[in-house]
Amino acid sequence: MFGLIGHLTNLSHAQRVARDLGYDEYASHDLEFWCMAPPQAVDEITITSVTGQVIHGQYVESCFLPEMLAQGRFKTAMRKILNAMALVQKRGIDITALGGFSSIIFENFSLDKLLNVRDITLDIQRFTTGNTHTAYILCQQVEQGAVRYGIDLAKATVAVVGATGDIGSAVCRWLTDRADIHELLLVARDAERLDRLQQELDTGRILPVEEALPKADIVVWVASMNQGMAIDPASLRTPCLLIDGGYPKNMAGTLQRPGIHILDGGMVEHSLDIDWQIMSFLNVPNPARQFFACFAESMLLEFEGLHFNFSWGRNHITVEKMAQIGSLSKKHGFRPLLEPSQRSGEL
Ligand code: NDP
Repeated sequence: MFGLIGHLTNLSHAQRVARDLGYDEYASHDLEFWCMAPPQAVDEITITSVTGQVIHGQYVESCFLPEMLAQGRFKTAMRKILNAMALVQKRGIDITALGGFSSIIFENFSLDKLLNVRDITLDIQRFTTGNTHTAYILCQQVEQGAVRYGIDLAKATVAVVGATGDIGSAVCRWLTDRADIHELLLVARDAERLDRLQQELDTGRILPVEEALPKADIVVWVASMNQGMAIDPASLRTPCLLIDGGYPKNMAGTLQRPGIHILDGGMVEHSLDIDWQIMSFLNVPNPARQFFACFAESMLLEFEGLHFNFSWGRNHITVEKMAQIGSLSKKHGFRPLLEPSQRSGEL
């Protein structure tokens, strides 16, 4: 049995989903109520691989919301993630993906030092961040998206926003080792970490975001921002491929200008319909098949009987592990999402 620990992107999104799921008491309350709310197992999932294998899983809503971080309610955020992890462990789930901000909170607040949750000691072997598969899918979106949208990768400048993060650094490693790109731009805020990454890669130009964007043919967004930033489409090259892997999204609103292509980054499409409800609350054209690559990682580990934390810690993701999870991804019928996002006005 696999598990998915997820959260919604903001309070109004959470209230709408709660109403649709029939949790009326959650729908009518403000952030204070969500701060107190316990995690809920809200969906049972059945997925069939293209090999014919069938597995089952559960979705647990942690009731964490990014506003909790924006308002400095760090202890609440930590409690949300620990309680959700304790719930999946209590339910006997073998391998669970920590979606979106769940793994970021786990790392940033050193939750590995707080593994005793009431009567349960969390076994971190049963959890995976899902970041190896996410990074692999983002790199496939760069390579296959370039072909689809008429960008010659060998001549392309690729900017990674959030380059020093767990996913961002893995994307940089892959683009350096396995993809033939012209130039890599490294964007984040902490200068020391950027220097270390540049030394490790032995390539890449460090630039602030406002200088990197006008130089880039492709931008991979993987920054842990709790709300999206506004982009002036006139400042971008054409064509330009923007792959937004942030959750919540790194770019605010829609960007409508000819030659600007947006992909929902770190998203996969499965070859067969999945029996579940929860993804219908996210803004994707085909919720029966399209969802987050990090969630797909726990499914892949369940299909293969690999019940251990395949992706864990920070900045340890190797290109070899990306290739390994990538071949399992293909074997079980997943592909990177390449259709334009509903935010690009191209549909
Ligand atoms: P990390 O915390 O490991 O890294 C975050 C990166 O973002 C760091 O490089 C950080 O560097 C940078 N950053 C944060 N704020 C800014 C800013 N304002 N401007 C520029 N850079 C910034 O996060 P992860 O790699 O785990 O996750 C990254 C994103 O991917 C998150 O939004 C997460 O929710 C999403 N995600 C998506 C998944 C999917 O399946 N599609 C799966 C898992 C995560 P610095 O602090 O120095 O700026």
